[in-house]
Amino acid sequence: MYVLDASAFIHGKPAVLRGYTTPEVLSELKSTEANAYLWVIGERVEVERPSPHFVREVRRALAEIGETKLSDADVSVLALALQKKLPLVTDDYNLQNVARYLGLEVLDTGMGRIRRVLRYEWRCIGCGRKYRAGMKRCPVCGSRVRPHSFLISEVEDTQ
Ligand SMILES: [Zn+2]
Repeated sequence: MYVLDASAFIHGKPAVLRGYTTPEVLSELKSTEANAYLWVIGERVEVERPSPHFVREVRRALAEIGETKLSDADVSVLALALQKKLPLVTDDYNLQNVARYLGLEVLDTGMGRIRRVLRYEWRCIGCGRKYRAGMKRCPVCGSRVRPHSFLISEVEDTQ
């Protein structure tokens, strides 16, 4: 059993399409052209909303590692995977990274595992000052603020 994001349905092997997904992912899938995979929902995949407690836990982790790119659908599958203690299947690198940071087992749709966990530090490209995640422009020198990644840990491959 897995928790599945949209990429798992679009690219995943049939063996992976088993477990849970969220209403947010379902609406992402319905808005895509290739919706032939929707048959598995109802038969092999249950749609469930994560509890607010786990959503808060995910949002706290996002703030801790300076991740700002994830959608509500991304947050919802992370929270559901935490709640159910199931591996998360996704091809999205940012999503995989946060999942690893949260201590979740993560697989891509080819059933491979990511190797590293990164944290982001947001720094001005002009003067080098550090800012909170998501800051666009440095109020001191006016240059752009960009995320720099730092390695937190290597992930041991247990397969
Ligand atoms: Zn600056």
